[in-house]
Amino acid sequence: FNEIPRTYPEPGKTTVYDDKPTIDIENLKTDGGFVLKTLFLSIDPYLRGRMRPPEIPSYVPAFKIGEPLESHGVGVVVRSDNQGLKVGDHLYGMLTHEEYTIHRSFDGFRLLVNEERLPWSVYLGAAGMPGKTAYAGWREYSRCQRGQTVFVTAGAGPVGSMVIQLARLSGLKIIACAGSEEKVEFIRSLGADVVFNYKTTSTQEVLNKEGPLDIYWDNVGGEALDAALSVSAVGARFIECGMISTYNEGPKPVHNLMQVISNNLCMHGFIVFRLERQYDNDFYWNVPQMLGRGELKYSEEVWRGLEKVGDAILANQKGMNRAKLVIKVADE
Ligand code: NDP
Repeated sequence: FNEIPRTYPEPGKTTVYDDKPTIDIENLKTDGGFVLKTLFLSIDPYLRGRMRPPEIPSYVPAFKIGEPLESHGVGVVVRSDNQGLKVGDHLYGMLTHEEYTIHRSFDGFRLLVNEERLPWSVYLGAAGMPGKTAYAGWREYSRCQRGQTVFVTAGAGPVGSMVIQLARLSGLKIIACAGSEEKVEFIRSLGADVVFNYKTTSTQEVLNKEGPLDIYWDNVGGEALDAALSVSAVGARFIECGMISTYNEGPKPVHNLMQVISNNLCMHGFIVFRLERQYDNDFYWNVPQMLGRGELKYSEEVWRGLEKVGDAILANQKGMNRAKLVIKVADE
């Protein structure tokens, strides 16, 4: 390997390599497993948390230098020596960022039936991990009642947009925000009652006028969390799903935490995979069908090419993505 002369792209330029190695799929050793061709990979905020020194503990392992990144993905079986799978089957699960992968076992994968004929990429967003986060977290922790008021941050992303729609189906008053006019228009189209761009409008002022809040679905932490605490109703539920405003910059002080005591707040954090056993069947039974019938909406942004992963992770962290970000690695 070291003797092969390598060329590297100039910094700031993207080079597309057309001379991809051809793979002799028939002669790969599968040991009774199967070969998966990667079609789509998901770009999610939590990938930032995996970029840390391995000795720092977390709920998800750190990426290892020199090894491929991994994230949720959808692939198609291009060779199978496993009796339960056939060529053409589509699988959803954790995939390394490679064009082809060999798997000895089906464990950890979900066979996608897709009777609704949704684009496969949707199984990484509204019908995938982020949609499931919203679905499971909302059902488990919201204890919502018709007429109550909910505030949702990062409302245009796959988690926030699903929460807004679940809240609408439950008959709540919805306040939601996002970081661009385009995103704000999208969340308006989902049925949110009060929408605003938090970069140009003060969150605190909107909440002072539209609160008190019975539920806060927190995707960002930081100042928004503080503002929500300050206008919480007695007995409000704070669903701590994400704190993206702190992922790069580190923790931020929360000044209004005393409200948890003063207002009998219930603050519940969660990680989606700990709710999967309880909600997976329900989620896959209901959500793809509702998306297929147009009863739930989604929005996604597809970038082409494995070499775009780095830029896409940065864009997601900076809020420069316009919708759920996925990388299209290959056509079928
Ligand atoms: P998105 O695709 O919506 O991307 C994240 C968005 O967050 C950005 O597009 C940006 O939107 C917004 N954002 C970025 N930086 C900031 C900032 N400093 N302040 C406020 N907003 C910011 O994300 P998802 O819908 O996939 O995820 C939403 C949240 O849910 C994240 O915090 C994520 O970590 C969390 N999550 C938690 C899970 C769990 O198991 N608990 C599982 C999945 C996701 P904008 O333009 O609006 O600023």
